[in-house]
Amino acid sequence: MIIDKLKKRSMPKPQIKDSKIDIPVGKWVKCNKCGEIIYKEFLHENYSICPICNYHFRLSNRRRIWQTIDENTFEPFEFNIDTVNPLKIKEYETKLKNLRKINGIDEAVVCGTGRINGDKVVICVMDGNFLMGSMGTVVGEMITYSMEKAIELKLPIIIFSVSGGARMQEGIMSLMQMAKTTAAVTKLNEAGILYISVLTDPTYGGVTASFASIADVILAEPGALIGFAGPRVIKQTIGQELPEGFQTAEFQLEHGFVDEIVDRSQMKETLSRILKFHK
Ligand SMILES: [Zn+2]
Repeated sequence: MIIDKLKKRSMPKPQIKDSKIDIPVGKWVKCNKCGEIIYKEFLHENYSICPICNYHFRLSNRRRIWQTIDENTFEPFEFNIDTVNPLKIKEYETKLKNLRKINGIDEAVVCGTGRINGDKVVICVMDGNFLMGSMGTVVGEMITYSMEKAIELKLPIIIFSVSGGARMQEGIMSLMQMAKTTAAVTKLNEAGILYISVLTDPTYGGVTASFASIADVILAEPGALIGFAGPRVIKQTIGQELPEGFQTAEFQLEHGFVDEIVDRSQMKETLSRILKFHK
């Protein structure tokens, strides 16, 4: 019996040969919506949009800036602030350190100035790869600082949101960022600065409930999920069936929460048009 087992173990693995399919690893991706296999390079050239079903893949901050801002014009703001661990959550600091290394960013948002078809703006781009774009003290401060900078420089501000909400690791400190960023938007309004919010998939929780939903113009990407709590939580709380397509950008447009749904390939031109219109 033991000999049988050893024999089995030493047997060479069966070679899977399929002459019809030759897919180099890492060069193809599967569409999350329609399941189509797409060549990665083509996908990148197509704004990371599925050519079959128009599904908008999630973007890193770098790709988003590259798609939106004129070449070589993005200048990030210098931040010298570090995330605190007020609740002494185990592994939180290690987690942050690893995420910084993997993503090449310090926090879940990147902020700075850049030009869109020549027009200078302040821009903040959240990144879902960093703790699901959650808003802790540093993200809140970076957003607030950028709004204050927009007032100082008299520039319009554009914020691309993608977030699971407030960062639970920082407890109530994260929730305070909602009040802080909302107060900063009020200052923007008083100074007459144009603020455009772009909601991308997914925008939830404390981000939806604060700065992301109180802009002068609110745009969204097709099919983006936008809401406060997830549908399952709401269903359990109110004990009722939710309408179909609930929390999609299209549903939010129909109910007046969003001003326009903009295809990613048209995003830069749309932003540029709004900027020129408000000049
Ligand atoms: Zn697709």
